[in-house]
Amino acid sequence: MPRSPRAARRAAKPGPPHDTASLRAAITAARLPGSPPQVTEQARALLLGWLDPSRTFADALRDLSSGEAARAIGLALLDRTPEPPGLDCKSGCAFCCILPGDDGGTVTAAEARTLHAALIPLQGTPDGTQWHPQACPALDPATRLCRAYAARPMICRTYVSRDVTACEAIAEGHAKPGTGTLPAQIITITVHALARAALHGTTPVHTYNLRAIATAALRGTPAPDALKSARHSPKSLDAERRRLARGLTRGAG
Ligand code: SF4
Ligand code: SF4
Repeated sequence: MPRSPRAARRAAKPGPPHDTASLRAAITAARLPGSPPQVTEQARALLLGWLDPSRTFADALRDLSSGEAARAIGLALLDRTPEPPGLDCKSGCAFCCILPGDDGGTVTAAEARTLHAALIPLQGTPDGTQWHPQACPALDPATRLCRAYAARPMICRTYVSRDVTACEAIAEGHAKPGTGTLPAQIITITVHALARAALHGTTPVHTYNLRAIATAALRGTPAPDALKSARHSPKSLDAERRRLARGLTRGAG
């Protein structure tokens, strides 16, 4: 019996990756509707470069799934990116640590575990919500300094502003130009989305709510339960990369 074109396409589609060569092929074939093509191709090239032959297939799967791959690629890019001139950012200036919206800030499992490990020794101490109800709990409410600075995720490392009054307005839910995100953030999120597309049917790739992870850590919740309670819905990763893409189109960053 002749196959329909759709059935033929399904039959021709490669199965889940089972070795490094098929993983490379899956990354090469992954599509991310709604992402700017130049961003997708830059992220794909960096991810294929990360997947060098010295890495075992099992290690690659683990690091793609956890977001270690996305973090390593994002941090390396951040290191190579010169700081934009004229920033208002300074220590103790924390409007960017107010996390409005339901997603609470998007982080990978690797970032969530690192942040959790940095905060759990501080359980029971006053947290950022004592300064502002929507502030990240990792913030020190007295000094407005991040108490997990070395462990902060990419979303925190890449948010910058030329106008602190814009940060304050945005924190209170009002749009105002002047803030932006360094390219390492959209590349990190795009690498993570490519990993998820390539591992479809093999290994889960999740994102997590930054505020929820910090809250759970400061309540003393063990990491596995904290991650379980802070896990985003699968749509959140796509929503975040589309939000960052809209920022690029508007020229923010
Ligand atoms: S992003 Fe805004 S609130 Fe955050 S440090 Fe920079 S100027 Fe201050
Ligand atoms: S982790 Fe630190 S830098 Fe990031 S939002 Fe929380 S307090 Fe701010």
